Amino acid sequence: MKLIQSGQVNGPNSCMEILTTMRFCFVLCLLTAVIWAVGRALKDTVAIAKQMHSIPCHNCVYFTNDYRLKCPVNPMGANTESAIDCPDYRGKA
Ligand code: SF4
Repeated sequence: MKLIQSGQVNGPNSCMEILTTMRFCFVLCLLTAVIWAVGRALKDTVAIAKQMHSIPCHNCVYFTNDYRLKCPVNPMGANTESAIDCPDYRGKA
C-alpha cells in the first residue's frame, strides 16, 4: 500500500499502461498507413485520368468509333497513350 501512495507501482497496472500505449501506437501507425495508401491511390487515379483525357482521338475526323477499326490512319495506336501526340490528328470542324 505504501508503494502505491508513493507512485512506484510496478505491477499489473503499469503493464496495462504499456500495453495500452503500444496499442495506441499500433492503431495510429495503421491509420496513417491507410490514409497514406488512400491518398496515393487518389493521386495515381487523378494522374491516369489526366493522361487518358489528353488522348485526342474522340475529336479527330479519322476516329470511326467502331471497335473493329477505330482509326484507318493509325489502327494500332488509336485510343491509346501513343495517340497523345499523333501527327495525323485532324480536329473536327
Ligand atoms: S489519326 Fe491519330 S488522333 Fe486521329 S483517331 Fe487516328 S490515332 Fe487518333
